[in-house]
Amino acid sequence: MNFIKKKRSFSIIRKYGFLFTFLVAIGGLFYPKLGLLVLLIMLGLLVTSFFNAKFWCGNICPHGSYFDNIILPMSRNTKIPKFFKNKVFSYGFFIFFLFNLGRKFLDISQYFGTMTFLDKLGSIFSTTYLMVMIVGGLIGLITTPRTWCQICPMGTMEKLSYGFGKLIKFKSPYEKRITISDTSLCKDCGLCYKVCPMQIDVNNNFDEYNQISDINCIKCKTCINNCPMKILSLEKAKI
Ligand code: SF4
Ligand code: SF4
Repeated sequence: MNFIKKKRSFSIIRKYGFLFTFLVAIGGLFYPKLGLLVLLIMLGLLVTSFFNAKFWCGNICPHGSYFDNIILPMSRNTKIPKFFKNKVFSYGFFIFFLFNLGRKFLDISQYFGTMTFLDKLGSIFSTTYLMVMIVGGLIGLITTPRTWCQICPMGTMEKLSYGFGKLIKFKSPYEKRITISDTSLCKDCGLCYKVCPMQIDVNNNFDEYNQISDINCIKCKTCINNCPMKILSLEKAKI
């Protein structure tokens, strides 16, 4: 399969969100408290994912903007290695990430209640941001920009938040899904799959409501904007 590089940013936030990544990851080396901004990011993605699955990743995430605008032009844009799609690996990585973060929190707990504590806490978050920028960026160059997103601990947190909503039978009025207006008009050209940052085989995955219910869809609208038949749209989830 030859994946195609197409524009993925359709809003100002998507286009320039990567500046926030640079600010926190690099600026945090000089002014550690900048890392505390990551707490807002975590809150934002937890709330939005409860209501609208992985919308955050495709529309707000600063690292997502970095992958799609800075890494994509230089990426080999190959198939996402199977390994990264493995659930055991992504949840295992999530546990490792939490363990590591917990260990760092414990290390700085002695400074709790002082200004030093805020600096040290900010530094933990900003260096984590820098690590994702470097490691995720390198993996993105070698494979495809959104490979990191398959195992990203923040993305896993989104899945858990969304899953919790489903568990308590919460029906979100804000959840939207990629929808095909008429399957008989589809030419099976597969362009939607070839441009999809998450490499979802869109035209072969519509459910009985003509919607994509794959949790990995980041609702970025790249498939919508590239479908030559203009039959895709983002509509309210039917179930
Ligand atoms: S299916 Fe469409 S909206 Fe979902 S991630 Fe792929 S391109 Fe984006
Ligand atoms: S891009 Fe449009 S026409 Fe082509 S396969 Fe996808 S839904 Fe069908």
